[in-house]
Amino acid sequence: MVERGASMMTDAKPMFSKYNMSDFKVFGKKILGAGLNYKSLLSEKGLLNPEKPTIFLKPTSSYIVQGQNIEVPEDFEIIQEVELGVVIGKHCKKVSEHEAMEYIAGYCLALDMTNGTVMKESQSQGLPWCLAKGFDTACPVSAFVPLEKIPDPNNIRIWSKVNGKLRQDSNTSDMMFGVTYLVSYISQFMTLEPGDLIITGSPPGMCPVVDGDVIEAGLGDILTVKFSVTGKQQD
Ligand code: MG
Repeated sequence: MVERGASMMTDAKPMFSKYNMSDFKVFGKKILGAGLNYKSLLSEKGLLNPEKPTIFLKPTSSYIVQGQNIEVPEDFEIIQEVELGVVIGKHCKKVSEHEAMEYIAGYCLALDMTNGTVMKESQSQGLPWCLAKGFDTACPVSAFVPLEKIPDPNNIRIWSKVNGKLRQDSNTSDMMFGVTYLVSYISQFMTLEPGDLIITGSPPGMCPVVDGDVIEAGLGDILTVKFSVTGKQQD
């Protein structure tokens, strides 16, 4: 019995032992997004380098996983954006950038699907982004990637293809606000909880997708994902 107990202690990950982080989509309570967070995108859009990140929320009802389809609402332009996702591992409130890494359980690859039609209206009128970012199926995610698989989240290749054509090919080193900065910054305003996801912004090259398209995306040598786009809506 002692031996068994000792073995369990060795295998356990004390920080996140209460949770199976692969299920972050199930128990996580929020998805936060960083908008306009790649330097090359800001420069392409002629925007001055912002002093603070732009943060928005997506509902967890927008999650889908590989095997499920991205559903594009009729009469709207839907845009794909590939992003590094950061999965929070423990209660995180007002942490410094220096401490932030301790609160990260791992990563995933995410697509921040965006209703471009609604987004343009919202941005031009200074209105919230939630309807543009929150439709059902607007947050396709890969499997959970444990922390140790990505030694430096601020330096990893990230790419996407639509119908086999490379659309986005960048590196997270181009992020304006890096991973630990975003965790620290958001935690000053709201408590981050285990399973919460932060999607860290998209490099340039995002493009509209339509019924029948196939999006592939990848993160370094670690993983690739594939999602089909359909015009059909599930009830
Ligand atoms: Mg985005």
